[in-house]
Amino acid sequence: MSDEQAHQRPSGRTELMLRPSGRTKVAGVIGDPVQHSLSPALHNAAFEHLGLDWVYTAFGVPAGQGADAVAAMRVLGIEGLSVTMPHKDDVAAACDELSFAAALLGAVNCVCRDGGRLIGENTDGAGFVNSLQAQAGMSPAGLDALVLGAGGAGRAVIAALAAGGASVTVANRSPAAAERAAAIGTSAAGGGGAVVVGTAAAAGSADLVVNATSLGMSAGDPLPLEASLLTEGQVVVDLIYQPERTPLLEAATAAGATTLNGVGMLLFQAAEQFRMWTGHEAPVDVMASAVGLQLAG
Ligand code: NDP
Repeated sequence: MSDEQAHQRPSGRTELMLRPSGRTKVAGVIGDPVQHSLSPALHNAAFEHLGLDWVYTAFGVPAGQGADAVAAMRVLGIEGLSVTMPHKDDVAAACDELSFAAALLGAVNCVCRDGGRLIGENTDGAGFVNSLQAQAGMSPAGLDALVLGAGGAGRAVIAALAAGGASVTVANRSPAAAERAAAIGTSAAGGGGAVVVGTAAAAGSADLVVNATSLGMSAGDPLPLEASLLTEGQVVVDLIYQPERTPLLEAATAAGATTLNGVGMLLFQAAEQFRMWTGHEAPVDVMASAVGLQLAG
């Protein structure tokens, strides 16, 4: 047990009743809407499990006030912020420094403290790749991947797959966004990694198909690609997690593919944030249980 944990682990009823106290460290997520976020459940389960005197909450911050929330973080001494829609771009501009991934993507999903400085990070791509490894035993190196969508989440996934050595095809409704995502992915590409703009027809030869569009969030949405393009043996990931099972995942299951929804990415991007803020490895099994996710093995 670390000194921090020994000091903070509640040793008796009185100390338990005093938490949170004036010493409790505060973290939270900003977004709009944010009330249904799973992030408080993920992080608070991890703090509790490790006996850390931290608490995590959700702050509803209206569009256009992301920079104000970063200023509030400075003044209030908030230790860590998760950032979700619609603030990822505004917060990037309000941080003192950006990590490589955040600068590449121009988007921040996590703010960390380094003394008096606020560092903007982006853990979405690492979260996706770690979830793919943990849930499907799949690594990017040598993969043939199709990513549908080129928004904030799509760009993070494309860059992380390319950095890990995957050949990625980007298909997106708006061609300009697809080109931008491909350029970002190309600049991130590691050995063997490459990114091209294409169409959903690339699903026919892909090992991995990722839906990073918002199609599937609302009842009645069309599929993001023709179901007949999906094949047995593929891994199909929908970044959407509400609903848990989208029509795409149902179609992929019917085709004999392995399917994952977006809870795994959410979990593993949160685990990266937890490690950056606290310096402790995240207890991912505990965090998974907190959101009803069963990890293989
Ligand atoms: P953005 O708004 O940045 O991007 C939306 C993407 O969806 C764009 O590529 C857009 O295409 C496409 N799109 C939207 N409507 C349509 C449509 N009618 N037909 C075809 N394409 C469409 O959103 P994000 O990238 O932040 O989020 C995308 C998805 O990923 C959401 O479902 C979100 O919930 C999920 N997500 C999951 C995370 C997780 O941890 N699991 C983390 C972040 C997001 P165009 O460029 O043409 O507008």
